[in-house]
Amino acid sequence: MSAPCLFCRIASGEIPAAIVAERESCLAFRDIAPQAPVHVLVIPRVHASSLNDVSSPSVLADLLALARDVAQQEGVAESGYRVVVNTNDDGGQSVAHVHLHVLGGRALRWPPG
Ligand code: 5GP
Ligand code: ZN
Repeated sequence: MSAPCLFCRIASGEIPAAIVAERESCLAFRDIAPQAPVHVLVIPRVHASSLNDVSSPSVLADLLALARDVAQQEGVAESGYRVVVNTNDDGGQSVAHVHLHVLGGRALRWPPG
């Protein structure tokens, strides 16, 4: 029986992804449609539909720490990067498993669209 959602299936290894870092509670893999030279997604291993549904502060801390470590590992910590959590419809969330985007490697505009 298949796992319930796309990113759960990536977390279980059922669907392949370019994994760049792993921790006990979360993992990081390259976005399939990168919007910047560095575009990595950080997800918890345990399913939560959006940021609204993550009840564990330690998981939130792990996600942000891994995003920061990925930026370092990808060589953009000093040049700069952005961590984005699109949430629900108005936030532009398209995959219903909470994820942090780590974007870097070019100057990012502000405000977002
Ligand atoms: P959202 O729009 O929900 O904030 O971000 C979802 C992200 O997941 C998008 O940037 C999209 O390119 C990425 N994505 C969607 N399907 C896949 C997939 O199968 N593999 C990977 N690596 N990324 C995906
Ligand atoms: Zn999931």
